[in-house]
Amino acid sequence: MFESLSDRLGNVFDSLRGRGALKEDEVRAAMREVRIALLEADVALPVVRRFIDKVTEAAIGQEVLRSVTPGQQVVKIVNDALVEMLGGEDGAAQAKLDLEAKPPVIVMMVGLQGSGKTTSTAKIAKRLKETEGKKVLMASLDVNRPAAQEQLAVLGEQAGVATLPIIAGQQPVEIANRAMQAAKLQSFDVLMLDTAGRLHVDEALMAEMKAVAAVATPKEVLLVVDALTGQDAVNVAQSFTGEVPLTGVVLTRMDGDARGGAALSMRAVTGKPIKFAGTGEKLDAIEPFVPSRVANRILG
Ligand code: GDP
Repeated sequence: MFESLSDRLGNVFDSLRGRGALKEDEVRAAMREVRIALLEADVALPVVRRFIDKVTEAAIGQEVLRSVTPGQQVVKIVNDALVEMLGGEDGAAQAKLDLEAKPPVIVMMVGLQGSGKTTSTAKIAKRLKETEGKKVLMASLDVNRPAAQEQLAVLGEQAGVATLPIIAGQQPVEIANRAMQAAKLQSFDVLMLDTAGRLHVDEALMAEMKAVAAVATPKEVLLVVDALTGQDAVNVAQSFTGEVPLTGVVLTRMDGDARGGAALSMRAVTGKPIKFAGTGEKLDAIEPFVPSRVANRILG
């Protein structure tokens, strides 16, 4: 469907055959192709601009290695810069949740409605239980969407993870307090709070989220974003970043045909590591985020 960046760059460097340094005009011509590739991968425009500036500067004047063509060399420079921007080679280490605190350690999930927040809450809880032997309690603070709390209870049953019993009429902060008390009394290691999502970022949602964060003082605050959000990812990231102390990002629907550009945008805007990638609807469909894999996907 897409022409790969290596193919695109073949033409730009026709004249220069594996010798000498990368010249400014060639690098700039190459960067026009890189720009198109990034936009096609749905990286947000301001992030594309920043990235191109950085890479242009790094590339001009670089000696071309004997073993590669200039086009391949530029692809490598771009690829390395992408991997670095996405979290570096040790991305897997950063992907781990920081649960070093007195239990129950609180993990708060935030994001827009439909991003996959509730599903990701259950996926991460199941993973913590199965791979780290943690005793996890989940609580839904979503009192706006009908049946949101029930949805988490159903997922909890499927995942074999406990959920806080539902009491009709309670408000998010009350539920958070009750969940914290229950988690303490019943010696849970981790408490996951699934906050309400809205269709759009709005002030009431932000105020509610801040109130919950203030009482729960979560160790991790994960922003859940749909990888198919593309250009919109920047707006979502920006509005959440200013309001709650994010510690990481969960990128869902990486099983779809998203080219992965949202990953770069999220990372650039939040400055926080992408910790997990959601790869399907099933509760096992979540993996630690691997920067190099996503860089390949963005470059096509
Ligand atoms: P929320 O409104 O943000 O809590 O979203 P939900 O967790 O209810 O998810 C909305 C829909 O997206 C559900 O049908 C999920 O099964 C689906 N979903 C969530 N994560 C993924 C993912 O990584 N891949 C795919 N294909 N579907 C997902």
